[in-house]
Amino acid sequence: MSARILVVDDILTNVKLLEAKLTAEYFEVMTATSGVEALELLAATPPDIILLDVMMPGMDGFEVCRRIKGNPETQHIPVIMVTALDQSSNKIEGLKAGADDFLTKPVNDIALLARVKSLVRLKMVVDELRMRTLTGQEMGMAMTSVIKPPDSLDGRIMVVVDDQQLADVIYASLDKGTTHKVKFISDPQEALYLAGSGDFDLIIVSLNLEDFDGLRLCSQFRSVEKTRNVPLLVIVEDNDPKRLVRALDLGVNDYIALPIDKNELLARCQSSLKRKWYSDQLRSNLEQSMEMAIKDALTGMHNRRYIDTNLNKQFILALKNNKPLSLLLLDIDKFKNVNDSYGHDIGDEILIEFADRIATSVRGIDITARLGGEEFVVLLPNTDNETALGIAERLRANIADAPFTDLTNCVDLNISMSIGVSSIERADEQAENLLKRADLALYDAKEQGRNRVNNYVARD
Ligand code: GH3
Ligand code: MG
Ligand code: MG
Repeated sequence: MSARILVVDDILTNVKLLEAKLTAEYFEVMTATSGVEALELLAATPPDIILLDVMMPGMDGFEVCRRIKGNPETQHIPVIMVTALDQSSNKIEGLKAGADDFLTKPVNDIALLARVKSLVRLKMVVDELRMRTLTGQEMGMAMTSVIKPPDSLDGRIMVVVDDQQLADVIYASLDKGTTHKVKFISDPQEALYLAGSGDFDLIIVSLNLEDFDGLRLCSQFRSVEKTRNVPLLVIVEDNDPKRLVRALDLGVNDYIALPIDKNELLARCQSSLKRKWYSDQLRSNLEQSMEMAIKDALTGMHNRRYIDTNLNKQFILALKNNKPLSLLLLDIDKFKNVNDSYGHDIGDEILIEFADRIATSVRGIDITARLGGEEFVVLLPNTDNETALGIAERLRANIADAPFTDLTNCVDLNISMSIGVSSIERADEQAENLLKRADLALYDAKEQGRNRVNNYVARD
């Protein structure tokens, strides 16, 4: 996992120390010794992560963070605030400034690598999200363009602790006076059961459970589908780095050491929720773009991309099983006139109803798609040429025999279409030929007066 990290600290020895540790882990490191220098540097060469000292003369870390997070060009870059041990409230202030994570000085090696690696993963998610959103927008898709989480995120949080004192501290930090919904559970089995049925945004596990191995519980959360992607935060003894490293290896995302600093716990929960928000967003964005990739936005029918892939599949299947396969190419007659006379919006309404009439008058296994404009295709698996001609004729009548009513502020309109029909011939070597032949047949139908079905006939 390689990444470019910008280290900002006014004290050169601190910078050198962090630089040495990170370079040893093969990260690329850039350094700055003031906020102003950092802002200039990151504008020229954007890093993947910024390690930012809070206490600096001139512009302090909070202000630098606010500027980074306030600039649309840089707001997606994760910032780790490096705070002094005795300034716990700095974590809350850092959070308000938009920081993504926190490290306490003197910086401990395990903490440093855990935080950096976890943020590199976050950065990859955010970069992917940004790229997809931009590409989607460039392609004219109405993609959700929100790529910044809301300032305050409320979470459904499960806390697995069996120690009442610890539970009280967590309650005071996370639950009391906040809008989080927190569920305290002391029995690990019940926790597993509940996590499998509920929707949690964050799970906090104490690694010091009385009679259950907290690490085992974490590994179980990671292996269950429902909780695989839910952030896991563990509570560890301060002097137990071995267990912590094990936990991080198991896929635990974050940790907090005992005794618990209430501000730090609250801050860590916020940053975990933020990360969850990003990955949820990425997932729904992915689903959205996958659906958009194969659907026509106006009619909801499959689009050209879909039919291109499926035509080939159906073609191979038909040849393999020695079954017929036919294709209808539909084109609305004189549609330009409709647009010119009644407007583009009426044209769109007609396309929507047209698509609906076609889709509802074929079998479920038939594939309908809008190729573009006023041109549609119907792929008919297991259908010979004669049957296909009959279906085409039925579709033609379905459009031509019933006027289009219910158009917005418009008289009822008579619409017709022409259809070209083709079917697999043994000599076929490519699926595309089916489309090409249907297109030739459609051309003939238009030539011969429109509102008609033409079968492909071989020509020289
Ligand atoms: P023909 O009978 O020869 O097919 O004539 P036509 O006018 O239907 O064909 P032509 O290809 O000349 O024009 C197609 C028209 O379809 C052009 C455009 O105005 C219209 N059109 C294409 N896509 C859309 C769309 O998404 N919405 C609307 N309203 N009209 C569209
Ligand atoms: Mg047309
Ligand atoms: Mg056309």
